[in-house]
Amino acid sequence: MIITLKKNAPKHDVDKLIDKFEGMNLQVTMIQGDNYNVFGLVGDTSIVDEKSVMANPIVYNVQRVAQPYKLANRMFHPEDTIVDVNGIQIGGKKIAMIAGPCSVEGENQICRIAKEVKAAGADMLRGGAYKPRTSPYAFQGMGTAGIMSMVKAREETGLPIVSELMSAEHLDEFVENVDIIQIGARNMQNFDLLKAVGKTKKPILLKRGMSATIQEWIMAAEYIMSEGNPNVIFCERGIRTFETYTRNTLDLSVVPIIKERTHLPIIIDPSHAAGDYKLIESLSLAAIAAGADGLIIEVHDDPENAWSDGAQSLKPKRYAELIEKGKAIAKVIGREL
Ligand code: PEP
Ligand code: MN
Repeated sequence: MIITLKKNAPKHDVDKLIDKFEGMNLQVTMIQGDNYNVFGLVGDTSIVDEKSVMANPIVYNVQRVAQPYKLANRMFHPEDTIVDVNGIQIGGKKIAMIAGPCSVEGENQICRIAKEVKAAGADMLRGGAYKPRTSPYAFQGMGTAGIMSMVKAREETGLPIVSELMSAEHLDEFVENVDIIQIGARNMQNFDLLKAVGKTKKPILLKRGMSATIQEWIMAAEYIMSEGNPNVIFCERGIRTFETYTRNTLDLSVVPIIKERTHLPIIIDPSHAAGDYKLIESLSLAAIAAGADGLIIEVHDDPENAWSDGAQSLKPKRYAELIEKGKAIAKVIGREL
C-alpha cells in the first residue's frame, strides 16, 4: 500500500501514523520527495481500511498495490482449485453440466426432469425449494418438501443436487441433504449467511450479485473461505445494465478475469442472464469457448406451465442438442463435456 501525505504534514502527526501502522505489524518505508512525502506499507495490508486512512487529515492519497483478498488470490495459490462434489469435479478438464427446473414443483416433476437431463448428459441436478421472488405474492418454493423431493431425485438418478439456501435458519437441512449449496445473487453480500456456509465444508455455488463488481464478488468468496471453507465455485448469472432486451447482461469477461485473479472454478448461468430460452444455446456455447468450468441451465419439460422462470427454461430435447454442440466447442479448446 502506498500512502501519500499532504505537504507540510506536522512531524508529530506523521510519527503517530507510522506508530499506528507499525502497531499493525506493517513495515513502513518513508520516501521524502520535494513536494510530497510517501509511505510504503509492506506486510498484510488486507487489514488496513483505506477509507479510514483517507480520513486522516494529513493523508493526501492511498493506493493499494496488493489485492484485499488473500485466500482466493491466485498469487498465493497458483494451481487451479478443483471442487469435488460426490466424485464429480468442477474446475478440471470436464466441463460440469448442471440442469433442472427453476423450482421444484413436486416429487414426480423433479424426478421426471432429473431423468431427462441425465439422459441428455447432465452431471448434476438443480432445483429451488426456497425461492427469492421479487413479489411476496409469487410462489415462494416448496421448502423442506422440495428438498426431500430433490433427495428422492438423487436416489433415482445418482445426480448430485444443487439448491439455493436463503437463510442460515435452514443450514442444517442443507448440510444434511444437498450436495452444493447455492448462494443466490440477492444474497451475495449477506455476510452472515456467507460466514455461516463458510463454517461448513460443503461446496458453495456463489452467484454474482446483480450489481456487484468483480472485486465485491471475490471478497464475498473470501468471506466464505476465511471461515474455513475452501470449496467455492463462482457463478456468473448476468448483471444489471441499461439494456432491457435481455433480463440481465451476461458478462463473459469475468471468466478469464476470475481465472487470472483467483484459483477458484467459475461456471455460467445463461438462464438468469438471458431470461429467454431462445438465447440459451448461443450464450452457453460462448461460455464454453471462454473457458467456463461449467454451466447451470434451467430445464423444464412444460415451460409454459412452470411455477417460475418458464420463459427462460429449455425443454429437455433442446438441452440435449445444446450438449452435443457444446461437446464440439469443448474439444476445440482441449476440454471435455
Ligand atoms: C435461481 O437460480 O433460480 C436464482 C434465483 O438465481 P439468481 O440468484 O441468479 O437470480
Ligand atoms: Mn430461476
